[in-house]
Amino acid sequence: MRALGIETSCDETAVAIVRRDANGHAVIEAETVLSQIDDHAPFGGVVPEIAARAHVDHLDHLITATLNEAKLSPQDLDCIAATAGPGLIGGVLVGLVTGRAMASAIGVPFIPVNHLEGHALSPRLSEHVPFPYLLFLVSGGHTQILCVEGVGQYERWGTTLDDALGEAFDKTAKLLELGFPGGPAVERMAESGDADRFQLPLPLKGKQGCDFSFAGLKTALRLTAEKHAPLSDQTVADLCASFQRSVGETIKDRMASALTRFSDRYTSPPVLVAAGGVAANKAIRAVLDDLISARQGRLVIPPAHHCTDNAAMIAWAALEREAAHLPRFEPSARPRWPLDAQATPKLGSGK
Ligand code: ATP
Ligand code: MG
Ligand code: FE
Repeated sequence: MRALGIETSCDETAVAIVRRDANGHAVIEAETVLSQIDDHAPFGGVVPEIAARAHVDHLDHLITATLNEAKLSPQDLDCIAATAGPGLIGGVLVGLVTGRAMASAIGVPFIPVNHLEGHALSPRLSEHVPFPYLLFLVSGGHTQILCVEGVGQYERWGTTLDDALGEAFDKTAKLLELGFPGGPAVERMAESGDADRFQLPLPLKGKQGCDFSFAGLKTALRLTAEKHAPLSDQTVADLCASFQRSVGETIKDRMASALTRFSDRYTSPPVLVAAGGVAANKAIRAVLDDLISARQGRLVIPPAHHCTDNAAMIAWAALEREAAHLPRFEPSARPRWPLDAQATPKLGSGK
């Protein structure tokens, strides 16, 4: 079965064509992605209306380009999949309506996909990672620890109580005038900084469960920066390094608790998958690597272009669901759509 996937929930317009072969493995036949980073950079963050308009401007060209790259025509597609949420509603609507119209014109099924399910199954695009595994999803909009037990079977063990980690990186960069997106800029500055100079808080450390909170850390960073103004380059670097150290220690603490819960439930060595733009951060990868090696487990980090928002994961989630004979969702756009709420029968309300 072959799916064309569309992703427009945030600031990437993406299209991909993926096939599921006879062994149940993914074959990516073509994928294109257009990042809007330059459109949003002057504003220091993603502007929803600019994002939605950019999706309108580019999506149809990308669909044609992706079909051309795969040397396929619309009639070769077995279904069309698009992100139906969660995300910025204007963008989600663009992808959803385009996908539905295309499916109806070709006469194939339209398959609405939960963007988070796309991320959850994304490691299986490049290698056949068996279930169960733990997913650490860290992006600009999400910070979650999910237990992925199978296709359509997800338990959310932890989430952020306030800011997402990518958002905290972006806000830190904005405060320190390092530009957008903030994560890579903060990581670069941190390399020449002294991580021990500032003792920033370690939110929720030692608390039960696997939740996160970054609002206190962000405030502490702002107050420290204000106290040292005007900031020298070295102080900016030290602030970045200290921020990154606090983040690393927080992740270590929260993830240790998730890994213990995983080992209490399953006898197999833990498999931890990290996805989302923040998973590109080398200091964070090192923390995850240490945690998982100490438990004789395996750390899987999909290639960078599948860690961030992409359409191959949307097409693939649709194919995995169809192969597992799971029911299709109502094709309504949802700004919020927790992954573990998928099992509830009333999916069509859009609320
Ligand atoms: P969503 O949350 O809907 O998945 P998003 O567009 O916010 O969407 P991604 O594209 O996966 O998420 O990731 C972008 C985020 O990742 C930004 O917040 C960016 O600052 C952060 N990021 C990227 N590279 C790094 C890095 N090296 N270190 C830390 N954060 C990073
Ligand atoms: Mg993005
Ligand atoms: Fe995403």
